[in-house]
Parts: sequence; structure tokens; C-alpha cells
Amino acid sequence: MSIGPEGAERIDWRSVLPAGFRWPDRIRAAACFTFDLDAESPILFDHPESAGWLDVMSHQAYGPRTAVPRLLRLLDRRGVRATFFVPGYTAKRWPAAVRAIRDAGHEIAHHGYLHEGARSAPDLATEEARLLRGFDALDRVAGVRPVGYRAPNWQLGYATPGLLAKHGFRYDSGLMDADHPYHLAVSGKPDAPTIVELPAHWSLDDWEPYNYLPGITGSGVIASPADVLARWTLELEALVDEGGLFMLTNHPFVSGRASRVAALETLIERAQAIDGLWIATAEEIAAWVAGLPLTPVVHVPPPLPERPW
Ligand SMILES: [Zn+2]
Repeated sequence: MSIGPEGAERIDWRSVLPAGFRWPDRIRAAACFTFDLDAESPILFDHPESAGWLDVMSHQAYGPRTAVPRLLRLLDRRGVRATFFVPGYTAKRWPAAVRAIRDAGHEIAHHGYLHEGARSAPDLATEEARLLRGFDALDRVAGVRPVGYRAPNWQLGYATPGLLAKHGFRYDSGLMDADHPYHLAVSGKPDAPTIVELPAHWSLDDWEPYNYLPGITGSGVIASPADVLARWTLELEALVDEGGLFMLTNHPFVSGRASRVAALETLIERAQAIDGLWIATAEEIAAWVAGLPLTPVVHVPPPLPERPW
């Protein structure tokens, strides 16, 4: 039986954890600190002409040039292994930064080639070509074969999970319909193979509160790291109470600035002080979840009603 919008099974609303879900012994929740090493790639994809804009390119270069070393020092100080989602283009342009991340013992995962949103792909073959180009770049630069995927802009089509399974990915991180990891059926069929989904959310992404590039992205309101720390701490503590996964998505060019790293360090200290909170890489969490007896979640597109609406 599968969990889907057809309502195939009853909802057990008294249970906090999904049926079959548990964390390892003495663990009651998990936290995963992730960094999307976008650098220039998302701006170049949306605005190819920006390759000639030194001001904008320098804003993006802050990530690999200045922030990555600072973040690696922070993670080393706190003894935390993180997951870095790296577009293939970034790996080729900033190979030393990517190799430093690898050599520091962090997980490197797939994040497209030029940060291409799935909705920009005319067909599945294009999506697949981008995936392969990303694999090739990460292999050439860092000699890694990622097992995890985070879609650029978190854009996934209904056929994307099937492509991920075809190319050996064990998890995706970015769907937003759960607080706990789950088994994601890679097609709309209940007996389809599964990969692990590690859900995320915009509220735990640093782009929204911090990032501002005039005329390109952001509201122009740049939040104080104290405010961001407060909101992320609230979510962390609430998700621990729910036995869920705190999946934080940061971008080095955004969150690698000095006061933001200081706030992130405070957050990590608070997380490390929580009894029973497992801080791990996405790969480690996915490996645990893959072994659980979970009923797969099947995603099917909602049928549109007949017009007129
Ligand atoms: Zn990204």
C-alpha cells in the first residue's frame, strides 16, 4: 500500500512519527547543515550577460574565494561534517575550493551543472544531459561520484526522481511535504523503486532573509543575523520536539559573511547542546532512513478540473 493523495490509508493523527519511522538508538531528531556552492552559476544561467558584470560576479565569487575557507574553519572547530551541493560549473571554475571541501571530509553532492531549474528543461533528455554533465565535472575535479541530489532552485518534475534512481542517486533533498525523511517512489506507481527524500523548506534557506542583488534577486531588506538565528533556533527546537529533520540550506556567498558565520556558529553550538540530536551529513541520514520499513510516498500530479474554473 502507498501513501498518496487518493487516501489509500487512514491517518493516524495521534502518532507524532510517521508509521515505521524511527531514529537510531538514543536519537530523537536529526540536523543536517548543508551548503549549496552556487557561486556564479545561478546568476549566469538566468542572466548569461552577467558574465561581463564584474560587480555581480565578485558578489558570487565571495562564496568559493572568501567564505568557503571561513566555513571550513567553523565546521572544523565545531567538529561537524556537512554536505556541500556543488554545481558542476562551480567545480570547474573553483576546483581548489571544491577539493578543499572534499579534503576536509565533507560530503559533496550534485546540484546540476549550471544550476538549471527543471522547469527550464524542454524534455527529460535535457534534464538527463545536465545531470551527466554535473557528474562528469565533479569526477574530473574532485574524483567524487555523488549519491545525493538537490535540484537547482529545488525544481523537480514528476519524472525527475526516476532519472535520479536511474543514475544511482540514493537521496534527493528539496521536496517540502514532510518534516521527516521518507521513501520517495520514483514514479507514480506504488510498486516503483524508491530513493530517500530529505525534505527542506524555504524558511530554512538563507537566500530569502539575506540575499540581495539589485535588479536580480532579493527584496532589498537584509535581515539581521540575530533575527535569522532566532527564527532558525525556533524551528530547530520545534522540529526536535516533533522528532523531525532540521535541514538547513546555506550558500557560502550568502551565509559566509562574517557576522552570519558567527550566528551560524551559535546555532551549531545550540544544536550540539541538545541531547539526542544527531548532527550528520545528508548521506548518513539517507543511509539510515533507507533501511526503515516505510511505506513509499507516491507523488502524482493533481488532475485539473474541467473549465470553467
Ligand atoms: Zn543552488
